[in-house]
Amino acid sequence: MKRKNNSKTAESLKNEIARGKPVFWANPAMIVSDVHDLPQKKINFTRTDIDEAEARLERFAPYIETAFPETRDSNGIIESPLKEIHKMKNYLLSVGEVVQGNLFLKCDSHLPISGSVKARGGIYEVLKYAEELALDAGLIKKCDNYSRFADDDFKKFFSGYSVAVGSTGNLGMSIGIISAKLGFKVDVHMSQDAKDWKKELLRRAGVNVVEYSGDYEKAVAEGRKLAEADPKCHFVDDENSQDLFLGYAVAGRRLAKQLRDRDISVSEATPLFVYIPCGVGGAPGGIAFGIKDEFGDNAHIYFAEPVQAPAMTLGLVTGLYEKISAQDVGLSGKTEADGLAVSRPSALVSPIMAEMLDGCFTVEDEELYPYLTNLAELEDIWVEPSACAAFPGPGIISENWDGLEEVKANHIIWATGGSAVPEDIMQEYYRRGKNKENFNGEE
Ligand SMILES: *Cc1c(COP(=O)(O)O)cnc(C)c1O
Repeated sequence: MKRKNNSKTAESLKNEIARGKPVFWANPAMIVSDVHDLPQKKINFTRTDIDEAEARLERFAPYIETAFPETRDSNGIIESPLKEIHKMKNYLLSVGEVVQGNLFLKCDSHLPISGSVKARGGIYEVLKYAEELALDAGLIKKCDNYSRFADDDFKKFFSGYSVAVGSTGNLGMSIGIISAKLGFKVDVHMSQDAKDWKKELLRRAGVNVVEYSGDYEKAVAEGRKLAEADPKCHFVDDENSQDLFLGYAVAGRRLAKQLRDRDISVSEATPLFVYIPCGVGGAPGGIAFGIKDEFGDNAHIYFAEPVQAPAMTLGLVTGLYEKISAQDVGLSGKTEADGLAVSRPSALVSPIMAEMLDGCFTVEDEELYPYLTNLAELEDIWVEPSACAAFPGPGIISENWDGLEEVKANHIIWATGGSAVPEDIMQEYYRRGKNKENFNGEE
């Protein structure tokens, strides 16, 4: 089994991206292997950092279980199921998308507390901040039972501090819900793409929602500026945060365990392909890092982005990382996949991905809905449009690797959000996919 090289130069790919065409890019600079071997200079993280993040989440599990009873079954560990989706695979085959191997869905769409992938990194970062404050104040020791974080004296203590974040929506939901629960004051700076129902839900949870007419970058910049002026405010910086990254990275270990539990091995003869929707790159980057840490070269990771907001693809194809944006090449940055409505990739994550990512591809908005509708009908799994961006992955890969039929591959589509979407809005998404299917009757 072997990756094919790009058939196009970086320059011609960039031109296609600028014209809003769906593209595929195989990373020619992937040196990769095991993350432990990566040149120290670019990667600030080690396996020990993931150990620490994992241990912190375990310390907080008794608190999470107390504060969010829906996590009782998992003893306060925020995790999602891995499901094999046979029927969806058959659907993909029936419309001519070749899937060589088994197809799975990682259901972060159904993570407890906030119903999106942001329940990993976002909640982790706020817990870390709360722990630091409580340890410094002598309120708790690391060996104590952390369910005490739910006590009134902790809430009163945290009410003297605040948390702020800029977001297209889902990160704001995670940060807002956990921060308000702990007792922090919390400001969520929302971009224009953010859906009204997310703003309303947060306001009901006691969050101060600040709305901007500009895009995600503007909301982050404004939030950062306001927070910097206040020493008792912690700003969750989606474009640069190491804590978010490590919270996401813990997913690699959890996935490894889920695969072991199913007797699925990851080796040269049984490679793993993982496809993750990407916005600024923090969530998919952290997850990619965690997976590479587990499986090294036997895991192949691809990011999926909207054609109008290909932040990471553009940053990596040009090698300019965060120094180039969708608008710089004439794209709008707008997409119905609101979780992916980001024009410029993370400065922290893009250089790391330049070394370990297998590649990227972009998807047209209209393509997302038939995946959404079929997944709902065939598997009864309901996800949001952003979460569907990864579905073309296995088909694209089958054209860009040689010898896939000689191995036993497992493909994982990372479904990044959906269970928090209100019913009426989900039905609208569903109908859109249905209409599109009818329209393309011959498909
Ligand atoms: C945030 C988000 C992503 C991508 O995460 P980034 O860290 O922005 O790259 C993907 N899907 C959904 C539903 C999201 O909310």
